[in-house]
Amino acid sequence: MASNAERHAALVREIEAHNYRYYVLDDPAVSDADFDALLRELREIEAREPALATSASPTQKVGGEVRAGVVKVKREHRMFSLDNAYSAEDMGEFVRRVREGLSDADVPRFCVEPKLDGASVEVVYDGGVIVQATTRGDGETGEDITENVRTIRGVPGTIPHTGKLTVRGEVVIFRKDLEVMNREREAEGLEPFANPRNAAAGAVRMMDPREVARRPLRALFYQAVEVEQRCDTHGAALAWLAELGLPTHRKEVVVPWDGVMAAIGAIDAARRDYPYETDGAVVKVDSFRQQAILGFTSKFPKWAVAYKFAAERATTVVRSIEINVGRTGALTPVAILDPVELSGTTVSRASLHNADQIRELDLRVGDRVVIEKAGEIIPQVLEVETSARTGALEPFAMPDTCPACGTKAVSRLLEEDRAEATLRCPNRNCPAQVMAKIHYFARRFAMDVASLGLVLVQQLVDAGMVRDVADLYVLDATRVASLDRMGKKSAENVIASIAASRERTLDRLLCGLGIPQVGQVAARQLAEEGETLERMLSWSPEDLRQHAGNIRGFGPKMVDSIAQFFADPVERSLMQKLVELGVGRPQPREAPAPEGPLTGSSFCVTGVLSRKRDDVHADLKARGATIHESVKKGTTYLVAGEKTGKTKLDQAKKHGTKVITEAELTELLGA
Ligand code: AMP
Ligand code: ZN
Repeated sequence: MASNAERHAALVREIEAHNYRYYVLDDPAVSDADFDALLRELREIEAREPALATSASPTQKVGGEVRAGVVKVKREHRMFSLDNAYSAEDMGEFVRRVREGLSDADVPRFCVEPKLDGASVEVVYDGGVIVQATTRGDGETGEDITENVRTIRGVPGTIPHTGKLTVRGEVVIFRKDLEVMNREREAEGLEPFANPRNAAAGAVRMMDPREVARRPLRALFYQAVEVEQRCDTHGAALAWLAELGLPTHRKEVVVPWDGVMAAIGAIDAARRDYPYETDGAVVKVDSFRQQAILGFTSKFPKWAVAYKFAAERATTVVRSIEINVGRTGALTPVAILDPVELSGTTVSRASLHNADQIRELDLRVGDRVVIEKAGEIIPQVLEVETSARTGALEPFAMPDTCPACGTKAVSRLLEEDRAEATLRCPNRNCPAQVMAKIHYFARRFAMDVASLGLVLVQQLVDAGMVRDVADLYVLDATRVASLDRMGKKSAENVIASIAASRERTLDRLLCGLGIPQVGQVAARQLAEEGETLERMLSWSPEDLRQHAGNIRGFGPKMVDSIAQFFADPVERSLMQKLVELGVGRPQPREAPAPEGPLTGSSFCVTGVLSRKRDDVHADLKARGATIHESVKKGTTYLVAGEKTGKTKLDQAKKHGTKVITEAELTELLGA
């Protein structure tokens, strides 16, 4: 039988391979549950033999100890910045200088690749494991972020190369992940990130690796340092990194000098479909030998240049600055603009974040401004054309009071003894906050009550019919019908759709309540732990802390926030009311299998099959079978498709599981 260490090593290899398929190729070979099962087994082995839980283990992706402070590290090889090019002429100039630097017969080829817009990192592997990761810093020295980088999924903790290997790349956040993350931030009462770059750059330097682990960071490597011994060209080095299981962008092309502009154009045309932001193309002399001949200036390599794509910008006039009151009371200034076209949409509002930003921009009502769609998400005011100012414009001042309820605005104290830049309305009964809370509760990712749009919520709050989300469930149809633009029929529809939301599961309910720090993902984890709201309310504060603290990835800040929310008398009585009103269903565990010919047998399906694995699972379940995500004690059958891993077969042997082919399965299903 395999020793713990052997089984551990095999599992690590399998998990890293799945991570690569998932995070790099975007082509997972197993279900999330399958993957979790592998990770669980790894954790079990490490619990038995803690020495195996090294920092390189995939179990350590949840993050370790909080850093004590910023540690600067001088790196072995300097990280250079890149010279920029903005036009075909600039590129022509670059190519000419390269050719001048080489002998006439030594014709260069160029590697053209996307310029990834994130935060640069350098990662050093030695003995096959990560020994150091740093930010670029000033090039010579960077900040030690080793623990943070270890948490990034898709960055393998181990690689099959035992010598020292230094790689550089960009930590990025995929656009789709940022969307989810921003919704989470909204749930936490935080400002959304304007673009993935800021989000990635902020996350990669955080002091608490467990927090970092919660961010959807990815890394894509674009350079291997001093690998001339092994590869002749940059392109070959990128291919080698991919072979080692390191994530690379895999979008490089190598072309002769007269193909460079076309290659750049191709990246520009395709980049909106890339999952990450690309702000340009990097053109590098492909041959390492030629790179060495060309050398460096004091700032840049002479063998590379960054071609920057023009950002999508427009100019318009700020007509007014409105103050928006958020769910958590945050007062956010919003610029109301003369409508203008920007990357295919009409923009008439731009976020201004807070008073500090307005001051920094020196933005005044009436100013002509340049706006940019940073990361193609929220339009930002980039700069004010102060030279275009005619006449005296008043500097903008944030109001002292909440525009919705007149309460004096305050700013929260942050940990570091400095107040945050955001002003808040402290009045919990502030109509704007009440409205935002109710609207949030009804949103798609929470209780999903489509009929409760902003306008209707506003009407209900203004009419005094709804003061909190519990009031929604006791609305009176005749009173709702009396509202403007409502009729009997639509009022009934609204009430029916609210009533239907009683059936939402606990995760949606918890999400809709807007517990600070708890977004969609955390709400689901919390719901699985809590099962019902009633049960959660029955917990003592200590029990609650214990339960929340047991959840994977919940750090002390989250636990504090949840504990505070549940201790708050107003929130408690609201939750109590919801329980009494029968809102929310218990969080489902595994659905019980129906009775059928296969009742009593369990199946683990693996490898490549002719049909989708989910469909096979569905067929099995419909016949009463239980699905096991991994082969364990009591698994009756292992359905081994093509390329079934040896570990699965070993497990089957160990547990006396019968191994069958897909054809045999089809027979069983037919019977
Ligand atoms: P800049 O920060 O404008 O000087 O541009 C140089 C930076 O671009 C490098 O330090 C890298 O962090 C980043 N970069 C992004 N993608 C690439 C790439 N494919 N090749 C080289 N550098 C890249
Ligand atoms: Zn207010």
